[in-house]
Amino acid sequence: MSNGDDTMHKLRIENLVVEVDGEVILNGFNLEIKSGEIHTIMGPNGTGKSTLCKVIIGDDTYKVVSGSIYFDDKELNNLSVDERARAGIFLGMQLPTEIEGVTNADFMRTALHLKEGDNFKLMSFIREIKSVCAELKMDEEMIHRGVNKGFSGGEKKKNEILQMYLLKPSMVLLDEIDSGLDVDSLRIVGEEVMKYYKTHECGVLLITHYQRLLDYIKPDFVHVMRNGKIIKTGDASLVSEIEKNGYENLLADGDK
Ligand code: ADP
Ligand code: MG
Repeated sequence: MSNGDDTMHKLRIENLVVEVDGEVILNGFNLEIKSGEIHTIMGPNGTGKSTLCKVIIGDDTYKVVSGSIYFDDKELNNLSVDERARAGIFLGMQLPTEIEGVTNADFMRTALHLKEGDNFKLMSFIREIKSVCAELKMDEEMIHRGVNKGFSGGEKKKNEILQMYLLKPSMVLLDEIDSGLDVDSLRIVGEEVMKYYKTHECGVLLITHYQRLLDYIKPDFVHVMRNGKIIKTGDASLVSEIEKNGYENLLADGDK
């Protein structure tokens, strides 16, 4: 049962080399994600996972030296964050930013108004934000607080999922969405992401360190990243191999 956009979408990253502060972080990165596919990237800290997410969404701190990012065969390299978001790409950030003086409701209403133009309906927006809040077991009062202002780590993560539900992206990037969540919140977030995925048939890229999130969200492809590129790809069984042996054994293997 699809809700909204039935088109197949494809995010394609080709030989991407990215620098930050003059240092190469992504070094010949390749990946393709289609609608209906769940990809997981795992890998040691500092290997460039968050950099990858931020460069896909268009954060200009990260300089694309060479290579390309395509969405539906359109090159994204020179598009703004806003244009990429409107094309249907969403990033749930590892460390969501706090915005002083703008309430969650105002922030989301403005974003949706821009996206939907004359089709934006205030009443249905209010109905939807309340219903998603309830699904996520978020206190409704949070809608009226400054974006992420004074939210706990876990509440910030739920707020990212709230934004995802409202914006209805077709390509979802979730960077360590499980960090800072207690076991109940982890289940709720995992189930809500899975529900969104099933309803919208989106593509998903999950960055995580742990099997526990993957108990709820089943990946089709598991990639191991090191030094700015993918060194090994497998199915879900690769996750238990990593949990058991750590990255080091695998890396020695992948480097051969
Ligand atoms: P991961 O998410 O895999 O842990 P990151 O992508 O956050 O790794 O970071 C990869 C490398 O890039 C690290 O060495 C980090 O210090 C560096 N880096 C990331 N963002 C910035 C930035 N804004 N300024 C300077 N260095 C950065
Ligand atoms: Mg990271």
